Amino acid sequence: MTYLTEDLAPHICHDGKPDRVCISIFGPGIGESILVGLPDEGWIIIDSLKNPDTKRPVTLEYLELLHKKAKDNLISTLATHWHDDHIRGMSDIIRECESTDFFMSAALNNDEFKTLAYLTSEFTPSKGMTSGVKEMFDILAALKKRIPKTKIKLASNSKCLFRSSCGLFELTSLSPSDASILTANSEFSSLIAAQKQTRKIVPSSKNLDSVALWLKTKHHNILLGADLENVASPNTGWKAVISDNTKPLGKASFVKIPHHGSQNAHNDDVWKHMVSSKSHSFVTEYSSSKLPRERDIERLKKHTSSLYQTSLSSQKKKVKRDKNVEKTIKQLNKTVKSAESKIGQILVIFDNEGDWSINLNEHAKQIF
Ligand SMILES: [Zn+2]
Ligand SMILES: [Zn+2]
Repeated sequence: MTYLTEDLAPHICHDGKPDRVCISIFGPGIGESILVGLPDEGWIIIDSLKNPDTKRPVTLEYLELLHKKAKDNLISTLATHWHDDHIRGMSDIIRECESTDFFMSAALNNDEFKTLAYLTSEFTPSKGMTSGVKEMFDILAALKKRIPKTKIKLASNSKCLFRSSCGLFELTSLSPSDASILTANSEFSSLIAAQKQTRKIVPSSKNLDSVALWLKTKHHNILLGADLENVASPNTGWKAVISDNTKPLGKASFVKIPHHGSQNAHNDDVWKHMVSSKSHSFVTEYSSSKLPRERDIERLKKHTSSLYQTSLSSQKKKVKRDKNVEKTIKQLNKTVKSAESKIGQILVIFDNEGDWSINLNEHAKQIF
């Protein structure tokens, strides 16, 4: 993969901070990680993924390429939720960057989750087994070792997590709702019981603990939807966000589509009331579930002016080949396997007048 350094490097100051707002969305085919740069403030990492070639978090690798001091200006690291595809390598970030705060969903702040994390820490996750809880354990353990101790900060509905000294930038969490926080412990209790029986953690399918975010800048609002889903209950998921009248005002002109474009995260009212009629959107893949599907793209066409995707493996059509050709290709692939990772990067750079540019590396694509 190629990191988009040349597009951003001219805008990094001598102290390693950017001179304008910039947002990078990374996606390797399963999962996502987002890096936000705020002028005169520093960097915020939202979720994490590792470069399979170097085994390092892509956000750290990218910051190191941009400037030798960039990493020292990491303000906050935030885990939107504990699923594998959003958290790989986050404990490395916490260990390497002493300056960073740590934010997690308030739904994880209960004894049941801590017990689950402790139980999971005792085994090495094998193939097909969820490692997200173990990564959370490693994060909490790394924070515990710090002197002075770093307080874990909890994200929940309509909570301002960060405000810049100039007052122009604000990062606010929109979820989890009170109802999601109150019921999360019972979900973890049943996962503990399952873990004791099978030594496997199968995450809840609902993503209702997920932290959706609202970033306010001088000229634009940006909605980062995490994996938050839309369910029947009005007290949780996107319906709770819509009915919360204390959430930030205004409409977003840029959207990170929730839950990899899945239908189960769609809410018409979010598009009607929280997103401007001319928005630009970004989606990351979850290729093993074939997300986003063709029908998701068709649905999104009705709501947003343009859509960019970090990588495109799920949409590649299978080419019919002769059996022998197929066999040779398979053998060749084995020998050159992982010669290069395929992590897509979408980089949005906003200038101080409100103009913006969207830059893509070789794996990311504009869908429409
Ligand atoms: Zn996900
Ligand atoms: Zn998830």
